[in-house]
Parts: sequence; structure tokens; C-alpha cells
Amino acid sequence: TSAHIKATEAQRHLNAFIVETPDLALDAAKASDARRQAGTAGSMDGLPIGIKDLFCTEGVQTTAASHILEGFKPPYESTVSGKLKAAGAVSLGKLNLDEFAMGSSNQTSYFGAVENPWKKTSAPKAKLVPGGSSGGSAAAVAARMVMAATGTDTGGSIRQPAAFCGITGIKPTYGRCSRFGIVAFASSLDQAGPMARTVRDCAIMLGAMAGHDPKDSTSVNMAVPDFEKALTGDIRGLKVGIPKEYRPDGLSDEVAKVWELGIEWIKAAGATPVEISLPHTKYALPTYYIIAPAECSSNLARYDGLRFGLRVPGKTLDEMYKNTRAAGFGAEVRRRILIGTYVLSAGYYDAYYAKAQKVRRLIAEDFRKAFESVDIILTPTAPSAAFGQGEGTDDPVTMWLNDVFTIPTSMAGLPGLSLPAGLSKDGLPLGLQLIGRPFDEETVFRVAGVME
Ligand code: GLN
Repeated sequence: TSAHIKATEAQRHLNAFIVETPDLALDAAKASDARRQAGTAGSMDGLPIGIKDLFCTEGVQTTAASHILEGFKPPYESTVSGKLKAAGAVSLGKLNLDEFAMGSSNQTSYFGAVENPWKKTSAPKAKLVPGGSSGGSAAAVAARMVMAATGTDTGGSIRQPAAFCGITGIKPTYGRCSRFGIVAFASSLDQAGPMARTVRDCAIMLGAMAGHDPKDSTSVNMAVPDFEKALTGDIRGLKVGIPKEYRPDGLSDEVAKVWELGIEWIKAAGATPVEISLPHTKYALPTYYIIAPAECSSNLARYDGLRFGLRVPGKTLDEMYKNTRAAGFGAEVRRRILIGTYVLSAGYYDAYYAKAQKVRRLIAEDFRKAFESVDIILTPTAPSAAFGQGEGTDDPVTMWLNDVFTIPTSMAGLPGLSLPAGLSKDGLPLGLQLIGRPFDEETVFRVAGVME
């Protein structure tokens, strides 16, 4: 623990943490030593982790990287972070993210951008983004500040930063982990998952995070399998779907090459690639940018200056609401709230929101049909490697394109894992994504274990 605390202090320039809690960590490490001596250690005992600052942590500031929650100390703990602590994990603090998890580059945080520890060989001084929204989590794991970190993924926020930082991360099936105590962005899509160096680490950590929770009615009452046991090293006979629609314009050559390489690896291990079609892929991004903002506008209505964090006074109650929300939310969050209230408004509900829900169904159907003939699907995680800080911030739509390969999976609620698969010409990590059937994280881990 103390070595990791030192690593955290030495790399503060990356801005991965919003709050460091070294004293709490040292106390937890002591308790863990005692458990180990008593032979009662849990599956994560003594392992230093970081917690994305979207998970409520009892008595420790939780901000969602927003000014509006600055100073908020929740009186309760999220189920997932509580389970990790119960398994013995030692938290070093709260990790930076895009404000309310809205973003793909960790540049929308009120507490400043996070820097990717990786550098381009051609421009070793240029600062790169770690991806987002779990950018602090990915950077902290990649820079060895923590052994693992929690992430959340609504449309790609675990998988894309994992790819950009050369680590492994999995968004489990929607319902696998409890959302209780996680600051809500888009409730029908949000899901927590582990980010770590290896597939095995992710498997162990997901085992500690997952499980039914009566406090979240969307968490599924199903036994949690021993994910580590799924790492048999044998994928002979599996059919691996390669979706032909996942070759959009703008897919970089090097990403296409890594994908080819991945296909060669699974062939060499005795699995068979099969071309599949997911015809509604092209509608996933526009559909997501109706559904996610709609749910966000509703979820973020609770930040009214009365209940949590920031309050900017005004002469009337309405003025106080306005002043607080204008000062408290950043530009990207306001953009999403505006889109969300528009698509939910009486005159437009059917044209946008209701229509988007129908398209979402079609996207899920595409996957259901594909899984009649394949066991798992292999795609790139993101269309490019990490880009420079400042790039893409002037055009939200370009930024939104980062998630073309991850959003369809989220819309269908399926498990998706990103693992490092190679380097770009410029020495940056590139990731591949494995998509599984609902609640079949085991096959995802099994194939990932062979590929890593
Ligand atoms: N980048 C996507 C967005 O901005 C996804 C974010 C997420 O998964 N939390 O909405």
C-alpha cells in the first residue's frame, strides 16, 4: 500500500485522482494484514485500488467530477465499492472522470483533464488523453498507482479508456452489478465494471463486484460464477463473429491491422472466425445520443441547490435553481440536458425518444440473431489510438464518434471487454473488444485469456 501511495504522489501531474485518501488506505491495509494472519482474507485482500468518483463512498467526497457536487460527502457507500472493501480491497482514493461520466477524453472534468501516461514516439512531450469517461481509472492502473480500479460504462467509458491506456476492462451485462450508490447518468445503460492490467485480475475483481442487490431492482438475481475458473486457455471449436458493418470510414489502418491480427490469434487457438451482419449498427450512435441525454436530463434534475453540494443564492427559489445549475454544470453536461429535455418534450417525444427506443430494440435483435450462429464477437474497441489533449474538443460530434464500436453493445446490454492487442506506428496501445451473450462473461473471459 505505501509503495502505491508513493507512486500516486509521484505522478500527480497526470491528475488521475480527485481525492487521495492515504490515511484511510493505511488503516485498511493494517486491517487486511490482520485478516491475512487470521486466515480470513477475502479475494481482493490488501490490493490497492482506486474508485471512480462516480461511486458514492461513505464520508469521502464524491463529485462525479462536477462543480455542482463539490464538497458532497455521501452518508452511505455504493454497493459495488462496499463489496470491494468487504473483499479486502484497499482504496487509495477517488479517481477523476469526465463530468457526470459524459465524455470520451476526460477533458470535461471540473477538476481538470487527466493525462495518459503513454506518449507518442514521434512527439514524446505531447500530452495525450486517457480516453473517457473512466480516464482517471485507466491512467491510474496504467501508471501503476493502483492494481485495479472501478469504472462505469454507459456507452464505452470502461472499454475505450482501457484501450487508450493499454489495460483491460470489462463492462459486464447490464444487471450484473448493482447501480445502487453510483451517480446516475443514463440509468438504462449505466453499468459498473473492473479495470485492471490483466484478464485474470478483471475476472477476480468482477467476482467481488457482481451480484444481486435488493437496493437496485435492475440488478439480476443470478448466481455469480467463478469467473477466474472460466480461464481454461481452451477456445477450440468456438465460433467468433466478425461484424462486417464495423469497418466505417475513419477506421485507421493500424486499428484494422490489429483486428486482422486478433482474427489470426483466435484461428491459431482453434476457434473459427465467421462473418456476421449487424445491420442496424449505423443507427446506434444517433439512437444513443437521444436515449442517454433523455435519461441524463431526468437524472440530473435532482441537482437543485437544495439537496447536494453547491448552492448559489438568488432572490427567489427559481433564481437560486437557475444560478446553481448555471454555475454548477459544465458545457457538455448542459448540452446533454438541453438535448434530453428537447427529445422528451411533449411535442417531440414520439418523433425522437419513442422512435429511439424502437431502434434500440432492433439493435438488440441484431445481436440476438448473430448469437444464434456465433459464441462471441470480436471487433476493435475504438476507431483510433489516444489523441492529443485539446484535440476534438471544439466539435462534439467528432468526439462522440469514439464510441461507434462500444455503444451498440451498451444499447443491447451485453458484456464487452477491451484488451490490449498491439501498438500503433507511434507506439500507442490499441485495443480489441470481445462481446458476449447476455450474462456469458465467462466465454468473454475465456477468449480474452487466450488472446492477451
Ligand atoms: N462517451 C460516451 C458519452 O459521452 C460514453 C460515456 C460513458 O460510457 N459514460 O456519453
